[in-house]
Amino acid sequence: MKGVASTAGAVREGQVDAAEPSRRAVARLHELHEGPLGEGGGEGLNAFLAALSNDDASTLDVPENDGCIRGVPVAVKDNMTTLDFPTTCGSKILEGYRPPYEATVVRRLKEEGAVIVGKTNLDEFAMGSSTENSAYGPVLNPVDHSRVTGGSSGGSAAAVAAGIVPAALGSDTGGSVRQPASFCGVVGLKPTYGRVSRYGLVAFASSLDQVGVFGGTVADAADLLQVIAGHDPRDSTSVDRPVPDFSGERDADAEGLVVGVPTEYFGDALGPGVRVRCREALDALEANGARIREVSLPNTTYALSAYYVIATAEASSNLARFDGVRYGLSDREGGDLGEMYERTRTVGFGQEVKRRILLGTFALTAGYHDQYYGRAQRARGLVAADFEAVFASGVDVIFTPTSPTVAFPLGERVQDPLQMYLADVFTVTANLAGLPAISVPVGVSDGLPVGGQLLAPRWGEATLFRAAYALESVLGSEVSDD
Ligand code: GLN
Repeated sequence: MKGVASTAGAVREGQVDAAEPSRRAVARLHELHEGPLGEGGGEGLNAFLAALSNDDASTLDVPENDGCIRGVPVAVKDNMTTLDFPTTCGSKILEGYRPPYEATVVRRLKEEGAVIVGKTNLDEFAMGSSTENSAYGPVLNPVDHSRVTGGSSGGSAAAVAAGIVPAALGSDTGGSVRQPASFCGVVGLKPTYGRVSRYGLVAFASSLDQVGVFGGTVADAADLLQVIAGHDPRDSTSVDRPVPDFSGERDADAEGLVVGVPTEYFGDALGPGVRVRCREALDALEANGARIREVSLPNTTYALSAYYVIATAEASSNLARFDGVRYGLSDREGGDLGEMYERTRTVGFGQEVKRRILLGTFALTAGYHDQYYGRAQRARGLVAADFEAVFASGVDVIFTPTSPTVAFPLGERVQDPLQMYLADVFTVTANLAGLPAISVPVGVSDGLPVGGQLLAPRWGEATLFRAAYALESVLGSEVSDD
């Protein structure tokens, strides 16, 4: 499949009609979906909840402009608001909901000429690590249909891995872009907190949420991030600072790069195949001039617990707005206002979302607030300080596995939330500390993709891309951009 830059180049030079790449994407999307959108459980991938039809695509008119990605088909996770499609967040409570406004990231993509071909399936309200928590059925991993895609942005990861689109948007609160990228064998990046506008991203845990990008290659991810990054006055947490040119280091090699390897991420929890592929990746970087340095991030041990307290606390507050009055589903069959709230939320939310609302409400209860939320916030500070110390010691980037295992079988962890939460043990730290991080394919174990994660200091996306381009090139890129 062509990448972002070559698709845009072919359109710009008139080699293909601007609508043609999107027509092909839409045709492939429906071919792989096998059946009506929004109904899972079949043989198809179930990566999309809404999309352009082949008829829509046949009459598609891509407005004439000098946008830098004009004619490039892009998929968007269904927790970002769009005017052209419903936004469900993978939940029954928002079934068919049509937002009256568009997310800033979506607007920017369209302004630069991209075609949004559809909205991708996800764990309900982005809560999960396998996309099995979607109210519309799980997404199948394109590499092996008996395996999960990871989550929560499983539909976007699958859309890129299956060659439907060269790049897609996801959201990453605790790993939801990087972990599915690693399970599906594509590139996935979470930017520095504040780099990309959250306006129109339906909030899960506001202090952790960032919109991220998927690409078949590092360059594809960079090209999409370039378009969506930058200050937005509509998001008070978006930061007004210049966006560097992420394409500048495309020929970067590993020479002189100082790569920190935290011992805490290579402990017993790591699957053997993942360990081998990650060690090989480090050896390849070293053979090409990088300096590998063992480092320690001792407070990593508190990260997962802190994350699940903070994320659930913020979620319990954010999800209070889905009450049957303002959005989507409303069960008004008799009774008083309280009963309407109760019935709407009982029917509308799935099990995992309810679990998180209960946990989060408990963590914020008067009397327990400091014991849970307060302590989690202090642990968060310690995790961030660990990273600062390592970067201050002259380390350019940190390398870790993205997830302890490869994609697990569908159904394996649905009854065991703790096992499911463990899939995020290496990714939540970047969200707690606000750092940019990327997952890059580092090979295959038993036929399933393995991802390696690189992390950089806050606002260090340019360094992160330099290291990611180097890693991709020393390993030999599987997906070419030609
Ligand atoms: N899997 C993690 C969770 O369930 C992360 C989700 C995300 O990043 N949106 O909370």
